[in-house]
Amino acid sequence: MDHSDDTRDIFIVGLRNAHAMENQALSVMRPQVERLEHYPDLKAMLQRHISETEGQIVRLEQIFDMVDESPSGLKATLLSAMGAMASMSHSLASDEVLKNSMANYMFEHFEIAAYTSLITMAGHVGAASAVPLLEQSLAEERRFADWLHDALPTVTDTFMTRTAAGLQAGV
Ligand code: MG
Ligand code: FE
Repeated sequence: MDHSDDTRDIFIVGLRNAHAMENQALSVMRPQVERLEHYPDLKAMLQRHISETEGQIVRLEQIFDMVDESPSGLKATLLSAMGAMASMSHSLASDEVLKNSMANYMFEHFEIAAYTSLITMAGHVGAASAVPLLEQSLAEERRFADWLHDALPTVTDTFMTRTAAGLQAGV
């Protein structure tokens, strides 16, 4: 028995999950970037990663075209709603910027794991032409994750200093 259809299906599901994940990323980052006031570097980097994420969605759509499949609108809608709810719940907290920074760091690592797995799957299903596109997105996720990690002490310093001075610190 040939089970190559099974492995191809797993790759397609992985691509659909990644496409939904990127839509979720947009619905998490867009409200954050609009609310940020006192963290200009973070705001600029979020804006940059929103643009990168839009490009990552285009890359995934290119891969769907290559394999003659399409993304799942339902998954994308559900995860986008979840992302928007997460951002909304953090906006109720006085330490909003810290909650978001930690959640973003976690999310970027989920994305790193997703692309790492997809790259390996592509090798199994003969989708070699997808690999450079996936590698490009993976590199962007790594760079943003590293940036968030390195920025966390500075963001926390600003949050603590502004709080101690009785200034608005959460966004
Ligand atoms: Mg992404
Ligand atoms: Fe990302």
